[in-house]
Amino acid sequence: MTNPSEAQRVERLSALSRQVSACRRCVDAGYIPTADPVGGARGRVSDRLMLIGQAPGRLSVARGMPFGGPGGEVLDDWLTRAGYPPNFLRTGVYLTALTRCFPGKVSGGKGDRAPSAAEMALCRPYLDAELALVDPELIVLVGGLAIRVMLGTGPLEHWVGQMVEQSGRHWLPLPHPSGVSRWLNAPAHRLLVDRALDQLAKWREERQ
Ligand code: SF4
Repeated sequence: MTNPSEAQRVERLSALSRQVSACRRCVDAGYIPTADPVGGARGRVSDRLMLIGQAPGRLSVARGMPFGGPGGEVLDDWLTRAGYPPNFLRTGVYLTALTRCFPGKVSGGKGDRAPSAAEMALCRPYLDAELALVDPELIVLVGGLAIRVMLGTGPLEHWVGQMVEQSGRHWLPLPHPSGVSRWLNAPAHRLLVDRALDQLAKWREERQ
């Protein structure tokens, strides 16, 4: 069977986006009260960089875009530090997540609840379809959960700072940029982010 043309991939991605936007699987299963899928297709089949986060937060839902809160600004700043032009997060990166609906807040806490394994399993076919259609050269994993699901267990310190080759793909693990995470407060951890961004800069330069 021949590989689909770019036009066919664009059409399939668009159909997938419509499917995600209409999805209510987690509501039907009783995991969340309402479905508000974000990022049906926040990117292009031609994007060479894909970024996988955990799940949208409240601001992302309100603005209808992944990483719509302050974390998105930090991520764009990190990309700029690796040599990409300003606003590249929005113009050159395929943005997606383990799940597409706001999971709600942690009960009694100020952070967002992490999606459960069952929710991630319901949403996973969308991510797998995107990976197949976009076929990115590099996947940036943002946050411990995305790293654990896509690469494996281990503390952030184990993963951040290296480019990983696994399952036939290249991965760059990064911490979540949100101010809620205290991991970035440690100078040693910020050095690991610097190292990761150096790896990204090198990867970008090699492909110019
Ligand atoms: S999180 Fe994913 S599977 Fe669950 S309702 Fe939203 S789009 Fe559907």
